[in-house]
Amino acid sequence: MEIDQRNTPPGGKKREELKQIIVVLIGLPGSGKSTFCEEVAKISNRPWVRVCQDAINNGKSGTKIMCLSVAAAALEYGKSVLIDRCNIDKEQRADFLKLGGSETEKHAVVLDLPNSLCISRSVKRSGHEGKLQGGRAAQVVNHMAPKKELPKLSEGFNRIMFCYNEKDVKEAIKLYGSLSLCDSLPFGCFGQKSVDSMVQVGIRSFFKKQDTSGNAKSVPEDSGNQGAEAGSHTADFQFDLEKASDIIVEQVEEYIGRIGEAKLVMVDLSHGSKILSLVKTKAAKKNIDSNKFSTFVGDITQLRSCGGLSCNVIANPTNWEIKPGGGGVNAAVFKAAGFVLEVATKERAEKLAAGECVVVPLPSSSPWFGAEGVTHVIHVLGPNMNPKRPNCLKDDYTKGCKILREAYSSLFEGFASIVKPYGNKDQNGKRAAAYVPENNKKTKDSSSSLSKSGVNNRNQDEQGSNTKTWNPWAQALHKIAMSPDSHKDIVLEVSDHVVVIKDSYPKAQQHLLVIARCHGLDSLADVSGEDIPLMKEMHDVGLKWAEKLILENNSLEFRLGYHSIPSMRQLHLHVISQDFDSTHLKNKKHWLSFNTPFFLDSVNVVKQLEEAGELRLGNESFFDGVLRCHRCLSVNPNMPKLKNHLRSCKDPLTFLIQNGYLISSEGKYSR
Ligand code: AMP
Repeated sequence: MEIDQRNTPPGGKKREELKQIIVVLIGLPGSGKSTFCEEVAKISNRPWVRVCQDAINNGKSGTKIMCLSVAAAALEYGKSVLIDRCNIDKEQRADFLKLGGSETEKHAVVLDLPNSLCISRSVKRSGHEGKLQGGRAAQVVNHMAPKKELPKLSEGFNRIMFCYNEKDVKEAIKLYGSLSLCDSLPFGCFGQKSVDSMVQVGIRSFFKKQDTSGNAKSVPEDSGNQGAEAGSHTADFQFDLEKASDIIVEQVEEYIGRIGEAKLVMVDLSHGSKILSLVKTKAAKKNIDSNKFSTFVGDITQLRSCGGLSCNVIANPTNWEIKPGGGGVNAAVFKAAGFVLEVATKERAEKLAAGECVVVPLPSSSPWFGAEGVTHVIHVLGPNMNPKRPNCLKDDYTKGCKILREAYSSLFEGFASIVKPYGNKDQNGKRAAAYVPENNKKTKDSSSSLSKSGVNNRNQDEQGSNTKTWNPWAQALHKIAMSPDSHKDIVLEVSDHVVVIKDSYPKAQQHLLVIARCHGLDSLADVSGEDIPLMKEMHDVGLKWAEKLILENNSLEFRLGYHSIPSMRQLHLHVISQDFDSTHLKNKKHWLSFNTPFFLDSVNVVKQLEEAGELRLGNESFFDGVLRCHRCLSVNPNMPKLKNHLRSCKDPLTFLIQNGYLISSEGKYSR
């Protein structure tokens, strides 16, 4: 470990121009952390300081405090720092994230190589700084491995890069080694194994725990199911199990080819579950690949910890208000996920009609996310034959089966939207509209669905593209893009590829939207490398408008960017002045959507597309954050106070200026 004592960095650059970075390496012994640091330092012209706990004490092993103080000193001297220790859990990393100023970028590089490789490397090595080699190394790795906790942006990282093999590591070395003094890397999570390869969906929709003996206890005495055989109906919704199992297997068969590498698992709590055994038998008869669809007995809230199943997406048979309650799965799901699920759900939907579902990304602050790795909950409402519950169908199985089919179909489409965007193209090279099953191509009375964004309303005519379905109210921008002539009053500019409009609910003095006119580009989730020319065109048009508005009022400063998860359909770039002086800026979500990494700067989006050929959009929730002024970074207790503060705060937008994100009369913006 060496510290270069020169106060002025090489090249004589002014300190303000430097992009200092603290890189927290994360990995088991033998994962290659020290090699990473050495290789980066070898090829880099940046003054990196490696802080290695195994050698911090005059070449000998030292303490974490020593590492912290050396890292702090190195940052003071204008260096960038590589923290070379295992840092396997959040607690280990937290102190390092407090180092440096707000302008210091905090990165994590995760060397998540196979445990067996880490063991064999550390056992075989000799002359290790911390003397961790031979048989003891294997013991240490085995002891540490289960405690490994992957980092999240919410810990305070600006950027996280995941490496799973030597090729990934080489690429990371090249990337960090090539960073010059003022370079910055795009923020966000990169290289993480796609959900596609990890996701399984736990389905326990509509079926409450079955009584193993199949006796009448599972069906309420006054259920109205005259003649119903005990155990042959679901307890909550009292739906005929033979009919239900036929529909489930039929729907699984239809959708299994559309979810890529992902798997489906149907879960019930009891070994005596009749529905599970019916589905299992019928799926086997239809030769459904058991690697793609299987049944599982266990607690759906503890699939990973108790069942060893990594189910990231959980289907929840909910009630029409999508609220905790009942005694079954719905109650258990809301309990396991905590209050944040209620909040996140409410942001997307308030009610569901039978047959509908809503996909809710689970905020990383949920205990379920941390403990079980659940990333999404898909709430789905099935048909009800129980007279004690709302909207009883009174044994009308024609209607009931139709709704159950819709519910599963909606659920699987919601799942497919998370795991596998499938953007098809037509002969003209344009993206085709999304697949909509014929039987759903009809208009629905929108009053029956009071849901907000993200609801998979299967009965909508306008389904949207591949990644999500959209409610009618979320279609306004799409309509403008497709027929700008019918919206002449609000359109500022039209070309073949884009439309520029004034945002109808501006969140600042000037707030324009540059909307793409391409079919099938609903949001960033649909964007790929082939869209780079369009994204650049959108950027240039946005920049042109920002510059025009600055000519009219030179106190304006602009930022161009996208919401990582937009509320409105059709890819649109926000061109927004940084005064945030608007009566439409009302709530915390409005503020945070423009002032957290939820807002992705257009330059970074294009850069990421050019470098990686695709966008990695995290599913982090940024809406739990504090109301921090984007200028002086002070925290304000509520929106009125923040808005009041914004009127007088004149601090420069240092972060935006440093990163080349700000467009102002002062200087030119990076293109
Ligand atoms: P996003 O959350 O990124 O999808 O942003 C959508 C933007 O569209 C918001 O800033 C809304 O204020 C704006 N908006 C919503 N409805 C309309 C509309 N009918 N015309 C113009 N802008 C709209």
